[in-house]
Amino acid sequence: MTSKFVHILGVPFIKATRREFIEKLQQRIAQNDKTFVVTANPEIVMHSLQDPAYKKILDKANYITADGIGIVKAAGLIGDSLPERVSGYDMMLDLLVLANEKHQRIFFLGAAEPVLQETVRLVKERYPNVIVAGQQNGFFDWEDPELPQRIRQSQADLVFVALGFPRQELWIGGNIDKFDKGVFIGIGGSFDVFSGNVKRAPEMWQKMNLEWFYRLVKQPSRWRRMLVLPKFALVVLQRKASSK
Ligand code: UDP
Repeated sequence: MTSKFVHILGVPFIKATRREFIEKLQQRIAQNDKTFVVTANPEIVMHSLQDPAYKKILDKANYITADGIGIVKAAGLIGDSLPERVSGYDMMLDLLVLANEKHQRIFFLGAAEPVLQETVRLVKERYPNVIVAGQQNGFFDWEDPELPQRIRQSQADLVFVALGFPRQELWIGGNIDKFDKGVFIGIGGSFDVFSGNVKRAPEMWQKMNLEWFYRLVKQPSRWRRMLVLPKFALVVLQRKASSK
């Protein structure tokens, strides 16, 4: 039998299409099962190898999805397979559609205040049945217990945490014990994209799995961050060779 997870450098990725995974999250929402979702790319996997505290946080996650074609390819390199990329932004859009159908409550956490406000405005306009359970920009005092209390009281079904890597995982992992319910999902810069402040690659580029290249061309300052990709491929191959 094929296993439910593919382990890449110690990180267990769920073997599911986006559709299957969203379905699973809906079941968990229906049962009020608290859930911590990480959308992990090669940068996150590499970081977890270097930072044991961060790895511990990943170990607390209920599900880790393959956010990046690099992860899907790595699964192939080790002789396993992941069906597709399951990115935070795509999931946010799917979850908004379903939240609109089911009148679910969403708490929006992260990004700069104007970006957050525009995100919430657009959500209310495009998904009028979504209940905005609360909102907080991403520049707050992490020590102040007020925010977790507010989220708890909001009874949110979904908490979109758009603080960027590694902050969102650290924040969710450090606070999840305070909540009874809610799907907490780290979605990086998704509010910037949703509100139109940052453009996503045209669909053609996404289909060709070249979104990473588009981002590099648009934001050349990212090149340093992208150096992690060849290193990641190398480490995956080395581990594979040494396990033979
Ligand atoms: N962000 C935030 N709080 C912070 C730092 C960043 O909410 O303390 C937001 C930022 O405004 C952006 C998102 O997190 O909307 C992603 O930021 P960045 O591009 O730095 O993250 P990455 O690309 O590394 O995930």
